Amino acid sequence: MDELTIFIGGHWRHGSGNVMHSHFPADGSVNATLHAASLDDLKEAITAAERAWREPGWRNMLPHLRAKILHKVADIIESRIDELAQLQSRDNGKPLAETHGLVMSAAGCARYFAAACELLEGELPTPRQADLLTLSRYEPLGVVAAITPWNSPIASEMQKVAPAIAAGNAVILKPAEATPLMALELARIFEQAGLPAGLLSVLPGKGSVIGDALARHPLVRKISFTGGTSTGRRLAHVAAEKLIPASLELGGKSPTIVLEDADIEQAARGICYGIFSSGGQACIAGSRLFVHENVYPQLMTRLLELARGLRIGHPFDDGTHIGPLINEKHRDSVLEYVELAKREGGRVLCGGEIPADPALAAGSYFQPTIIEGLTNGARACQEEIFGPVLVAISFRDDEQLIREANDSVYGLAAGIWTRDSGRALRLSDRLEAGTVWINTYKVFSISTPFGGFKQSGLGREKGIQGLKGWMQQKSIYLATGNSVNHWCD
Ligand code: NAD
Repeated sequence: MDELTIFIGGHWRHGSGNVMHSHFPADGSVNATLHAASLDDLKEAITAAERAWREPGWRNMLPHLRAKILHKVADIIESRIDELAQLQSRDNGKPLAETHGLVMSAAGCARYFAAACELLEGELPTPRQADLLTLSRYEPLGVVAAITPWNSPIASEMQKVAPAIAAGNAVILKPAEATPLMALELARIFEQAGLPAGLLSVLPGKGSVIGDALARHPLVRKISFTGGTSTGRRLAHVAAEKLIPASLELGGKSPTIVLEDADIEQAARGICYGIFSSGGQACIAGSRLFVHENVYPQLMTRLLELARGLRIGHPFDDGTHIGPLINEKHRDSVLEYVELAKREGGRVLCGGEIPADPALAAGSYFQPTIIEGLTNGARACQEEIFGPVLVAISFRDDEQLIREANDSVYGLAAGIWTRDSGRALRLSDRLEAGTVWINTYKVFSISTPFGGFKQSGLGREKGIQGLKGWMQQKSIYLATGNSVNHWCD
């Protein structure tokens, strides 16, 4: 098998770091082998990036021409949807139906930030008491770091690279160890779309080596990170020492809430999708279910029927709902959480095991699992499992509900199922979560800001704010009168 090259400062070549592999989680086979970036490669990429973003041709490029590159990126992605979806599925095992959606969302993201960069305008704040004209405009930060996880590479990587480039920066992208393929393909697409050399480098490698050195490098002026909360906290320290901005999209343990007047069929289907799509490997997975005691039996009966009917299978098979988890180590950690939940007093209502089907034996599969009988304080209710495991709890009144739903170090998302939209809005006011979905779950709009409360993160991606986050504001004062400053008389 050929070794993949990586993209360092505008050049495709082998990294000078250790050998790495991308594995297909459905059977453990090797998708690709490559040499990781070394610290010397990192230095080379940053030097090229620093030169590239200061180039007058890039600095002064009119926004509509920068937008043209991003539209071209979107055109290329849209012309290769099936192929890119397959590549993404090979890298992390998600079913094709899901990776199709992610590829489309990446194209939409590139188009959104193309439009946003054309529309972004500075401001003309008018001072009250002086003969002054003041302008405030947005400028790029310079060289910026994007560090991403393995669960939705094409979407999370585009969500950083597109606005960073639209804003005029140079980006060093460090993909997750397990999933280097999509980031490298994105680099080819940006290159093909005409992005000048040096403005994007992709450096696969170990987080604690390349990721850490990237974040610490003195020329790096922003860290944008998506991943686990403990890594995010470490990077926040690095950013604090350097006094640079950090945008952190971290973990979650999101509550979904079924009120007594909910449409049970709608709620059961939405909850099932919210926790079990992507095999639960989603930061926003609705992993804690709170159901009003009056409808608990009815809701749980329907939810169990749906969960038992989900098809676990090969990511490329039509009709597969749940593919393999990213690797065996992660699958084993999900299994350990189920064992822990049982020791904590939980009753497994469905799933809870590695599937017995011999056709699935080579992959890191896990059954969709629903557990009841735990209180919200249990570790299985507090810690992010990042797998297809739902814990169900019944509640009696809104005060108990709010107390328990908010009793988490995380605050990424929440869901509410009810026919009473006024009550849903009142509840959403009290939920500590960056996103609240009402009668839907895990749907997105690129123009709507996304990010976490509490230990689920800092800062927001998407929307115009998501573009401004990659820029710094400069204010300029122009004296319009003839007055002379007499202070030194
Ligand atoms: P992770 O924190 O282990 O790794 C994420 C990235 O950080 C990888 O590229 C990794 O190599 C790098 N990294 C690791 N240590 C580093 C260090 N010391 N310095 C710099 N970089 C380092 O996370 P993961 O296991 O890849 O992803 C799963 C986690 O990501 C889950 O907690 C999930 O909730 C979270 N996530 C959050 C969002 C969100 O938008 N909030 C989205 C997807 C995933």
